[in-house]
Amino acid sequence: MKREILIATGNPGKIAEITSMLDADIDWVSLSDFSDVGEVREDGKTFAENARTKALGYAKATGLWTIADDSGLAVDALGGEPGVKSARFSGEKEADRVMLDHKNMAKVLKLLEGVPRVKRTARFVCHLCLASPAKILAETEGTLEGFIGEEEIGANGFGYDPIFFVPDLNKTVAQLSRDQKNAISHRGNAIRKLKPLLEKLLSTG
Ligand code: IMP
Repeated sequence: MKREILIATGNPGKIAEITSMLDADIDWVSLSDFSDVGEVREDGKTFAENARTKALGYAKATGLWTIADDSGLAVDALGGEPGVKSARFSGEKEADRVMLDHKNMAKVLKLLEGVPRVKRTARFVCHLCLASPAKILAETEGTLEGFIGEEEIGANGFGYDPIFFVPDLNKTVAQLSRDQKNAISHRGNAIRKLKPLLEKLLSTG
């Protein structure tokens, strides 16, 4: 019988990315299949802590193996901020996702005003955790190294993509196609690392 695994997100983009890249013989379900399960709060100090809390919390609530992720931007000159605060860095309770992204980017650019290129280094980080209701089964972390530009460039992607330059490509992540981004992204890298671990766990039951 196929194992059922919950992806602890309601974000259709993330679900598609994880299921297509893991490409295993699994019955995937997502949080939208569990309308009665309450939200697990993310109040940890690290991406790892939040991913673990979510994976274990939703696994216990549903009885299923669960994959959860937590991701964000860490800027060296800001001591690793926005970090786990990436989604709401500007402090605004903005319902409009696009406006919120602009405000978050504006705050990062303002804090980095006058900071030279060599000190604008940053990385996207994604921590993935797979848990059963009893324990954590596997964890991986993926990163994408780059630097913060001076203004927003490009229209693809989401979040901080328009201000995040990939040095090797001399483009922002928002100038990449979805496939180009998946091939190098923090989330793509974390998922690629999880694949062999998941296959081993599935083969041993
Ligand atoms: P979450 O892990 O989906 O909750 O992401 C947290 C926040 O980190 C997002 O709201 C974005 O602001 C930022 N973030 C995470 N991944 C990316 C990415 O691939 N590009 C740009 N921003 C990202």
